[in-house]
Amino acid sequence: MSATETAIASAEAHSAHNYHPLPVVVASAEGAWMTDVEGRRYLDLLAGYSALNFGHGNRRLIDAARAQLERVTLTSRAFHHDRFADFCTELAALCGMEMVLPMNTGAEAVETAVKTARKWGYRVKGVPDGMAKIIVASDNFHGRTTTIISFSTDPEARADYGPYTPGFEIVPYGDLTALREAMTVNTVAVLIEPIQGEAGVLVPPAGYLPGVRELTRERNVLFIADEIQSGLGRTGKTFALEHEGVVPDMYVLGKALGGGVVPVSAVVSSAGILGVFKPGEHGSTFGGNPLACAVALEVIAMLRTGEYQERAAELGDHLHRELGLLAGGGAVETVRGRGLWAGVDIAPALGTGREISERLMEERVLVKDTHGSTIRIAPPLVISKEDLDWGLDRLRTVLSA
Ligand SMILES: *Cc1c(COP(=O)(O)O)cnc(C)c1O
Repeated sequence: MSATETAIASAEAHSAHNYHPLPVVVASAEGAWMTDVEGRRYLDLLAGYSALNFGHGNRRLIDAARAQLERVTLTSRAFHHDRFADFCTELAALCGMEMVLPMNTGAEAVETAVKTARKWGYRVKGVPDGMAKIIVASDNFHGRTTTIISFSTDPEARADYGPYTPGFEIVPYGDLTALREAMTVNTVAVLIEPIQGEAGVLVPPAGYLPGVRELTRERNVLFIADEIQSGLGRTGKTFALEHEGVVPDMYVLGKALGGGVVPVSAVVSSAGILGVFKPGEHGSTFGGNPLACAVALEVIAMLRTGEYQERAAELGDHLHRELGLLAGGGAVETVRGRGLWAGVDIAPALGTGREISERLMEERVLVKDTHGSTIRIAPPLVISKEDLDWGLDRLRTVLSA
C-alpha cells in the first residue's frame, strides 16, 4: 500500500466517519499550496472554508504565534493577561463596535449570540420570560451544536439529534415579506449569513440586507450577522454587509480570525447589548487565551491595512470574469459569489460535485463540493494571479473532458 492508502485505511478504521475527505493526505503547506505524503503539490482552492484567508504558514502569523508560545499560552479568564485588552480593543475598532466576547469555535460564538439576544430580550426589550424568538433563514449554516442544528433545514445536519431546542422561526432566505410576517413582539433577533456559504455561496437579492436592517431597527429586534465565513476580507471588504452599506447590531466572527493557526471566534457588539452579561453568566476556559489573542491581533493588524480586502476584490473580479465565461459554455450552469468566493453549479450531466472535486484533485487542485453539483472556490487571499489562473485552467480541463 502507498503512504496515502495506509493513512486513509487507518483513519477509516479509527476515526468516526462524520466526514468523507478527498483521498489526499497532506503533510505540509505554504501559501496557497499543500504537499501530500508522497510529495505531490496541490493548489488549495478551499482555504479551510476561509479559515486560511492569509494562506498556509503565513510568516507574520507564525511568528506572532511562536513569540507568544514562548511567553504564556493560557491563563483562563480567572486572571487578566497582557494581550487580552488589546485584542478586544482592536477587534471592536475593526468592527466599529464597542465590546467583544471571545470564544473559540464558530458554533460557540453563534451560541453566544443566541444567549446574548435572549438575555437582551428579557432584560432590555422586556420580552416575557421564556418567550424569546429568534428568526433564522432556510438553508442556513451556523454550526453543529444541538441548539444550532435545531434550526437547520438540512436533514443530514439535523436528523436523529432531537429533541430540538425551541425558540427559533425559519423563513425563506432573501424573502423580506416572510421576515416581516414572522416578526412578533417577542422576536429578539434575526440571525442570518450575509452570504450563505455552505448553502452554495448564495448572495441574497439586492435590497434584502438593507431591508432586514430597516425592519429590525423598526421593530427593536437585533440584527445578528454571522460573518464567520463571509467576513474578514473574503468578499473584498472586511465584512460582506459593507457591500450593502449595512451595519448590524452584532457580528459573529470566527474562522479567519484565528489565522489558520488556532480556533478564535468572537461576538462583537455594542455596550448596550454585550453589557447584559454579569460575571458567571457565560464563559469558556479557552476563550480569549493569550495565544489566540496574539494570533488574532496580528490578523486584525493585517486587515487594518486593507490590502487583503483589495486583493480579494481585484482577484475576485478576475475569478468571476473567468467563471462567467465558463457559464456560457454548457458545462457550468450558474456562478454565484462575491470577491474571492464562488459557488459554481456544474451541469449534472458532467458528474456530481464530489466527482468533479475528485477529478480536480487528480489535476492537483483541491476544492470541496456542496449540495449535489455545486463546487465552491475560495482560495487563500494571498494566492497569486498566476496560480489562480493555473487552477482555473485545470477546472477548464476537467469540465471539457
Ligand atoms: C463554519 C461556520 C460556522 C461554524 O464554525 P465552526 O468553527 O465550525 O464551529 C458558523 N457559521 C458559519 C457561517 C460558518 O461558515
